[in-house]
Amino acid sequence: MTKKTKRKLAHPKLPMQRQLNLQDERRRFDLCAIFDELNATHFGGRLRGYQVVWGRRRRTRPKEYFVFGTIQEEDRIIRINPSLDQPFVPLWFIKYILYHEMLHSVIPDEIGPSGRRRVHTDEFYRREQQYPHYRRARRWEEENLARFLR
Ligand SMILES: [Zn+2]
Repeated sequence: MTKKTKRKLAHPKLPMQRQLNLQDERRRFDLCAIFDELNATHFGGRLRGYQVVWGRRRRTRPKEYFVFGTIQEEDRIIRINPSLDQPFVPLWFIKYILYHEMLHSVIPDEIGPSGRRRVHTDEFYRREQQYPHYRRARRWEEENLARFLR
């Protein structure tokens, strides 16, 4: 009987695309897939050329408030706080955070009477509430915020 040797590659070669996404593959949530889904379902595919990335991990947790996500319109980059990439965070909450940031790209800012720029306008809040899990997500945020703070 001949023993078959199993071929084992020490460094298996991944297709180029997978190599580039390696960092994301370690993550539990696939931000790009979530973005694509939300874009198709709620924005008619209007958001083009956006990049969705996990933000940089901070060494210390914030004390007062927590920024779940940001959008940088000029560069079309949406950053999601990496602290959200934890097993106790429900998918529909991540989706809500992403939905909120995406909404900023379609709802224009307003200048208030005092000359201050408002990004969360009445129209913004109206549209935000159209997210199917809006109330659930807001409640979850309230109940779990302390877990993200010091
Ligand atoms: Zn906002």
